[in-house]
Amino acid sequence: MEKVSELFGINVFNDSVMKERLPEEVYLILKSTIKEGKTIDSSIADTVANAMKEWAIEKGATHYTHWFQPLTGITAEKHDSFISPTDDGHIIMEFSGKELIKGEPDASSFPSGGLRATFEARGYTAWDPSSYAFIKDETLCIPTAFCSYCGEALDQKTPLLRSMEAINKQALRIIKLFGHNDVKRVNVTVGPEQEYFLVDKNMYEKRPDLIFCGRTLIGSMPPKGQEMDDHYFGVLKPRVAAFMRELDNELWKLGVLAKTEHNEAAPAQHELAPIFTTTNIAADHNQLTMEMMKKTALKHGLVCLLHEKPFDGVNGSGKHNNWSLSTDTGINFLKPGKNPDKNPLFLLSLAAVIKAVDEHQELLRISVATAGNDHRLGGNEAPPAIISIFLGEELLGILEAIEQGVHHDSVKGIKMNMGADIIPSIRKDNTDRNRTSPFAFTGNKFEFRMLGSASSISDTNVMLNTMVAEVFSQFAERLEAAMDFEKEINLIIKEVMQKHKRILFNGDGYSAEWQIEAERRGLLNLPSTVDALPLLKSEQNISMFERHKVFSRTEINSRVDIILENYCKTIHIEALTLIEMMNRAVVPAITAYTDKLCVAVLHKNNLGGVNATVEKELIARLSAANKEIYALTDELKIAVATAERTVDVTERAEQYRNIILRLMADIRHYTDSAESVVPSEYWPYPSYGELLFSI
Ligand code: ADP
Ligand code: MG
Repeated sequence: MEKVSELFGINVFNDSVMKERLPEEVYLILKSTIKEGKTIDSSIADTVANAMKEWAIEKGATHYTHWFQPLTGITAEKHDSFISPTDDGHIIMEFSGKELIKGEPDASSFPSGGLRATFEARGYTAWDPSSYAFIKDETLCIPTAFCSYCGEALDQKTPLLRSMEAINKQALRIIKLFGHNDVKRVNVTVGPEQEYFLVDKNMYEKRPDLIFCGRTLIGSMPPKGQEMDDHYFGVLKPRVAAFMRELDNELWKLGVLAKTEHNEAAPAQHELAPIFTTTNIAADHNQLTMEMMKKTALKHGLVCLLHEKPFDGVNGSGKHNNWSLSTDTGINFLKPGKNPDKNPLFLLSLAAVIKAVDEHQELLRISVATAGNDHRLGGNEAPPAIISIFLGEELLGILEAIEQGVHHDSVKGIKMNMGADIIPSIRKDNTDRNRTSPFAFTGNKFEFRMLGSASSISDTNVMLNTMVAEVFSQFAERLEAAMDFEKEINLIIKEVMQKHKRILFNGDGYSAEWQIEAERRGLLNLPSTVDALPLLKSEQNISMFERHKVFSRTEINSRVDIILENYCKTIHIEALTLIEMMNRAVVPAITAYTDKLCVAVLHKNNLGGVNATVEKELIARLSAANKEIYALTDELKIAVATAERTVDVTERAEQYRNIILRLMADIRHYTDSAESVVPSEYWPYPSYGELLFSI
């Protein structure tokens, strides 16, 4: 095998390739464009495109594509070849600056929430030079944003880039107030940890629910679940280890900084964590990571499940979005340093995040709202759908001391009067103990843990960036006008604590008491997508997004529709799959086994009254269950048809949540109870035990 250092980034048109292959002046212009997040100078586009093409062809590429992330949740590509005919009947390989900068995919079938008028169904893709182009499957992939002809965002990347601009602008105001006049740019850094399941491909292919929905719709619990906790960080099975090694290699070639791979809490569950990078690159890389996980798994006879809750009763999968802010000169706003209480930039940033999260709890919840993730939030392994912040005792102590105007000695854990100069030092492990908090301060960053494993990380970061930009702009306004800078900072922090302390919670976020306590504090608890989504349209949110040029009113309205539409579609497919599984496999299987039992009873009767109590008992139980399953399946069919006739998407989503999901759960209840007494040779599908423990 090649050395990792030689492997890393070999398929990426990265900085060193650019430096080597571009004329110096072009390279410098492109580099400053990237560094300062400016738009590309079209005069250099032809040169860059040509260099990219030459490089890609040398690497065996024949096609190029604008690689983008429409609101379907997965990435889209439309491959064009480089070939171009010449007059003499030959071809040349061509790729122009125009083709690099702008593409026009036929976009009419991507969700737009009514943004594209029918007379202009096309959208366009625009190069994002800050995320490097790369080669995948003999194709040069150019990361792009995807917009309608009027410039409305139709994708995940456009608002993300806008939100990065918004927070850059406001964070620059803040950092300049601290005298750092050399700072040109403030970047949001993100490291997303990704969880996933691996199952055997042969088993997978026997489960229509996994094939069509990505999750099991039925399945009774195996005798051994995750209660032994023996999987977490356990020794890797050889097949899994081989998969992980190849996955790391594939990701490294694409310049993805895959760092750690380990087993997770549930059987067959694993995690990959990359090294953090700039947000839009982190988002692109996370999409690539998910794609590579699926592809690589297949090569090892495995299937990678990215669904948030593939197995009921077993931990689901999420993502942890590690988020921080750093200047181009290397200052991390959220790094406490040795003396956090003497670090006003850190304390002010902390206060900004606290205020932002408390004032916009619903936005964080909305950013992770999907039909899949709804099964996980509130489950026993995931935080409930309530947003709260964990700071740890030391930081909380410092902020409380400021609130009360006393000096805090966190080393001894006692509060002293102002004036005594005792310097607390923050120990990293003190901030990293609470695994049940949805939004935890972890040393030099915040970690948001409610994201679903299958979705893009973009939405969450759009929300975080915008809401913190909003609070920074409020703080900057006050600080720019303040007579006494230090005093004003203190005052701001004090006010934030007084008004927003309710969002701070260091205790067990999974406990039942917290749900009650959170309600007492007036925190939002939005268990489902259908509850959460409408809040995106509040006037307060719309005006904030418009103020920071992240979303327009029309874009927000269209997004709400698209998300609800996706929610309905997901459950629609699940319901149809379940109906088919019941009618064509489960009901017949139960019938077949019951028949067999009936024959046994007759046989025993013929033998002169040999005891057949057990058979009769089973026949009664299974027939009763089968009758329920049969009737509920019919009911489900009618409910789905009714929902599909409902024009209003919010109403339709409510039907899916209130009626269809409930019917599906009822069917599952009877099916699972039948599965637990029907012999495996009669049961049409591989069991949970086989799916979870066969690798
Ligand atoms: P854990 O205990 O959760 O594994 P780590 O400290 O190893 O914690 O970090 C987890 C993730 O956080 C990694 O992806 C890492 O790159 C990322 N991370 C570390 N520092 C930052 C930062 N300043 N900004 C964003 N992400 C960061
Ligand atoms: Mg983590």
